[in-house]
Amino acid sequence: MRHLLSIEDLGADGIEEVLRLTDSFVEVSERRIPKVPTLRGKTVVSLFYEDSTRTRLSFESAAKRLSADTMNFSVSTSSVKKGESLRDTVLTIEAMGVDAIVVRHGSAGVPWQVAQWVDAAVINAGDGWHEHPTQALLDCYTIRERFGSLRDKRIAIVGDVKHSRVARSDVLAFTALGAHVTLVAPPTLLPPSLEGWPVEVSHDLDSVLPKLDVVYLLRMQKERQTEALLPSLREYTATYGLTRDRARLLGEQALVMHPGPMNRGVEIAAEVADLPNAVITRQVANGVAVRMAVLFLLLAAEGDARV
Ligand code: ASP
Repeated sequence: MRHLLSIEDLGADGIEEVLRLTDSFVEVSERRIPKVPTLRGKTVVSLFYEDSTRTRLSFESAAKRLSADTMNFSVSTSSVKKGESLRDTVLTIEAMGVDAIVVRHGSAGVPWQVAQWVDAAVINAGDGWHEHPTQALLDCYTIRERFGSLRDKRIAIVGDVKHSRVARSDVLAFTALGAHVTLVAPPTLLPPSLEGWPVEVSHDLDSVLPKLDVVYLLRMQKERQTEALLPSLREYTATYGLTRDRARLLGEQALVMHPGPMNRGVEIAAEVADLPNAVITRQVANGVAVRMAVLFLLLAAEGDARV
């Protein structure tokens, strides 16, 4: 694999390989000094045209734990402000000699475009509403960690599916590993067509919750909503939010997940996010090890010691 642009680049076998490799990097992350020399001499740059807390820090920390050098590009303090094009920015960065470019951009497809311009490995860290493959991998890892496998698990993805790149990558990854996915959302927050999506759809969260192994809540992505899609946020919370009362409908083992950043009190009640079965910070912790696995697969030379 040369780049990681979509979950489809991996397929079920590729996802399983990343998850197996992640086990070794979780072990590294738990060491007293959580660092291995595997990517010494390699340089990883983050090129983020959109805001991020978790993904940016997670990639940086993954690269550092593998002993790679890191560079950080921030649009607000770069020559993009002087009108430099994406292509010129990318070619400038590549000319400095980088091995991997981690790209986040507000437009779908930008990572594919970047991959055509450079020799470096390109990793999609979120392109518009389209995909966020490493989020899906860390979500799969977190579910597998609890249940051993995703096969036949019942997962509901709830909320603003329409604007969610996380939902798109998660549906591909969860179903590739044998899970059954139900999307739960008001019709206005679903994509206009779900043709080809291997999912069921429901508008009734209360009836879905008792059957689930995982309830996966999505953030209400107001920054991407150009028209009024909901009567009010209060009404949304009353019908689709995981309130304290509604969380009682979940089975005892069921996991509560969220990609972050959370809007506590909107899609998830503040206290529900802190319940023992809410694995939201576990997702973040696993994200570092998953991204170490991805960087390893893309950058380590054949025959390199694993850890
Ligand atoms: N952090 C995730 C993303 O970048 C989810 C979100 O922003 O709601 O897509």
